[in-house]
Amino acid sequence: MAFALVCQRTTTARYFGCIRSRPLRFHVASSVAQRRTFLNIFRKKKTEDTKEPPEPIPLLSEDDLFHPYSRSPFPEVRAKGQTISSMAPCPVCASGNSHTHEHNHEKPKVKNVSFECPDCGWPTHCSEEHWKADKEHEKYCSRLREANEDEHDLRSGRRMPEFELPGIKLFHPKYTCYSRVRTGPQGYEEAISFANWDVFWYTRGYNSMDSERSRRHASKLLTYPMTIGSVLHQHSSLMLNNQRLTPEGSRSMAAIRSTLHTEPGAPETHEASVGKPQVRIFILGARGESSLPPHVWEQLGFLFPAANFHLFFIGPQVALPRERQNTTPSPVNNDSTSTEPETPASDSTSDKISGDPTSSKEIPDTESTQIEAKKPLYTPNVYTPQTPAAIPPLKWTRSSLTRYGVPSYTTPYSYQMSLSGLQVDNYADVHPLFEETLDPYSDVFFFFAPGFGFPSPSYKDEAGQPVLQISSPTEWGPVLPMLLASKCPIFVTGFSPADVERDVRSLSTAPGVAGEFEWVVTPGPNPFGSEKWEVADFDPRIMVKTNWGIWAIRGKSRDIQERSFFSSLFSNN
Ligand SMILES: [Zn+2]
Ligand SMILES: [Zn+2]
Repeated sequence: MAFALVCQRTTTARYFGCIRSRPLRFHVASSVAQRRTFLNIFRKKKTEDTKEPPEPIPLLSEDDLFHPYSRSPFPEVRAKGQTISSMAPCPVCASGNSHTHEHNHEKPKVKNVSFECPDCGWPTHCSEEHWKADKEHEKYCSRLREANEDEHDLRSGRRMPEFELPGIKLFHPKYTCYSRVRTGPQGYEEAISFANWDVFWYTRGYNSMDSERSRRHASKLLTYPMTIGSVLHQHSSLMLNNQRLTPEGSRSMAAIRSTLHTEPGAPETHEASVGKPQVRIFILGARGESSLPPHVWEQLGFLFPAANFHLFFIGPQVALPRERQNTTPSPVNNDSTSTEPETPASDSTSDKISGDPTSSKEIPDTESTQIEAKKPLYTPNVYTPQTPAAIPPLKWTRSSLTRYGVPSYTTPYSYQMSLSGLQVDNYADVHPLFEETLDPYSDVFFFFAPGFGFPSPSYKDEAGQPVLQISSPTEWGPVLPMLLASKCPIFVTGFSPADVERDVRSLSTAPGVAGEFEWVVTPGPNPFGSEKWEVADFDPRIMVKTNWGIWAIRGKSRDIQERSFFSSLFSNN
């Protein structure tokens, strides 16, 4: 897949890996705790609440966040610096014999970056001389410095209110127990605004984001669920009167919103969801988003108290629960179920993704750190991205192999949200499972930076030229025509204006897509994109923002053509 896509996806995965890692561990504990809240309806057990995560002791103070990568106090950050040095060519050397720059140096051998800019701390050039010679670097330097400080802030060990989400039971070191439960589902009398992150956070009751840094962290954490929520919600800021929604799109959205919401005037309560179909959100080509902690996805459900959701992550790089990916017993893992071999058996043992369903054993939150221990210090964001690390299974997580025929799981996470992940080379392979039941009133597709307009790395045409991924049989070629036939809305994000444009242009070249779709949402900025710059390890001058833009299409309605066909019949008579 395309490099920039890779860049943003894998950094997302890495980042959330970081969230699960040690300094921020209590967030995982939060999700477990939240689960227990739900559980407590059925049993009175209270002992878990007495288990306190250790009080966070900040390792770095707010004014000590800048460190050159090679001298960072955090091994992961030092590893990142080494990765960049091993991959990124010096831009000044490269300008001597590449087309990208107007510098006219002699043609030296292109050396990798090893000199760290003292202002941003990133390895940016091969030497101090080339750093001094580069007049372009100052364009990037302040953003790189910001990214450097953000990396250190995430690991600083400070309490991070920006990650304390509504509905999550919080641990406060000051108190002796989990002592505060913030509102979960939105009260039906409280209107949420989706104009931008700020009013959204305010109207939804998030902690106030006191700094740009907090905004960047929180927007990156929430961009996937809130991009979905903000376009589907009846108060979406993508509307007819700002020309982001088309008249056809308006009809599509009215259909699905009739399932997501109640009739005007009727209270939006969970009781109102009785008898309504589950809303299925299919996220195709999912990577990092499939390893987001479930309590982050739950934020999406909270926006729609009268709806039930089933999220499907489908693609070759969907994160599966830990056991399925561990082929050998791990010395650091004491959980006996994890020693099961990877080979999925054809019988019920394969349903034991997460251990004995009858066991009352809680999953200790230390597991997340054990998982971290097995991962490399830093995973580069390179051309061939890795599948996100295995996700910690929850007690209710089950294999869905027998249901979907591919490595998969389902977690019924809360009363209104289930999550499934299907690891499959191509969505087309599992489409028949859903085809008959797809319904524009309850089903919607999302593609997060799918790279439609990038050349396929694996498929070439007869002339030996790479085919665009939107048309390639090994990528999206067979997929989009299937989805258009369903008439369900198809949302697509891109990480920059150029990325959005590239994907949109590719629509007109793809057989079975060109001329077969109608616009639902016109291409443009996504108010709920991440505000954090993602920097490519192989070239720190390349920076993108996850979900910067959004657009949507659906299969062309045949009504008009059919009508004209019939009317021509009658007129001939
Ligand atoms: Zn150089
Ligand atoms: Zn710099």
